[in-house]
Amino acid sequence: MRELPTLPLPAPAPPAEGYSRREALVMGLFALAAAATATGCSAADKLAYEEFVQKHFKDLSPEELKDRLASMEKRYTEQFGKEVKVSATPPMPGVLFGYALDLSRCIGCRRCVYGCVEENNQSRDPQTHWITVLEMDKEEGVNLQNANAFYDHETVPAPGKFYMPVACQHCENPPCVKVCPVQATWKEPDGIVVIDYDWCIGCRNCIAACPYGARRFNWGKPSIPKDELNPNTEYLGNRPRQRGVVEKCSFCLQRVRKGLYPKCVEVCPVGARKFGNLLDPESEIRYIIENKRVYILKEELNTQPKFFYYYGL
Ligand code: SF4
Ligand code: SF4
Repeated sequence: MRELPTLPLPAPAPPAEGYSRREALVMGLFALAAAATATGCSAADKLAYEEFVQKHFKDLSPEELKDRLASMEKRYTEQFGKEVKVSATPPMPGVLFGYALDLSRCIGCRRCVYGCVEENNQSRDPQTHWITVLEMDKEEGVNLQNANAFYDHETVPAPGKFYMPVACQHCENPPCVKVCPVQATWKEPDGIVVIDYDWCIGCRNCIAACPYGARRFNWGKPSIPKDELNPNTEYLGNRPRQRGVVEKCSFCLQRVRKGLYPKCVEVCPVGARKFGNLLDPESEIRYIIENKRVYILKEELNTQPKFFYYYGL
């Protein structure tokens, strides 16, 4: 098996500081009410109020969506000092995305983790990772209770170990969606479970409901060096996030809806990752599902993940 250096572990998150976006908005609302009864509204109060009463993403007219994307592009372009594009590419008809991961190939190098960080504009400080690679004993087999996410060998694979990367499973029956009190997260027609970061109130119900530990909460203000920002972003995907909201893997929505593979598939040095359209009988993902012994995590929960594990060799 091919041996490679391991990439480093995530650093611990620093304590949170300041107010969350929603806290600020609520305070802005109170300030606005007070100001309205006294001296009138400032532009900042008006902006906070407009953000607070904005429409749900799914209720926006094409014109309203265009305006919202344009104002985001302006804001991010100013913030990062380079032109940032924010798109809202719709799902393609006749497509249901699925993922397969060959456990016999994965060597635990974490290149997928860091490829994902760069592509999806995850915070560098504090570090946020949408993918966690678990190390387990070959002798014991898959045992999530005893898995080690913090292995730190000079090279991988370590003798006697195997590796299982885990991220959002894009469940067909997603418990995270059911518990969101404001419908800030939902499943799209192509199967991708998305989050509207501007609608999320940071209650973290979805984190508690997800049986796969796939969601991350921004306790601190995410930080990305300006020159490292990926400027090709999607509203429901890799656009920059704010403190106080939840995020997770989006199957690289900004890539796969344009016919590209997710970044993790592209950067994996051993070809452990496969991705495609579950509705296409000619696709590689369908071949794997129909010809390999695939299994899903926590099948008994009826979450129906669209992320399959198998042994290809
Ligand atoms: S899936 Fe590929 S890139 Fe990720 S840890 Fe395994 S071998 Fe490395
Ligand atoms: S893995 Fe977790 S976050 Fe992803 S769809 Fe399933 S329940 Fe939701």
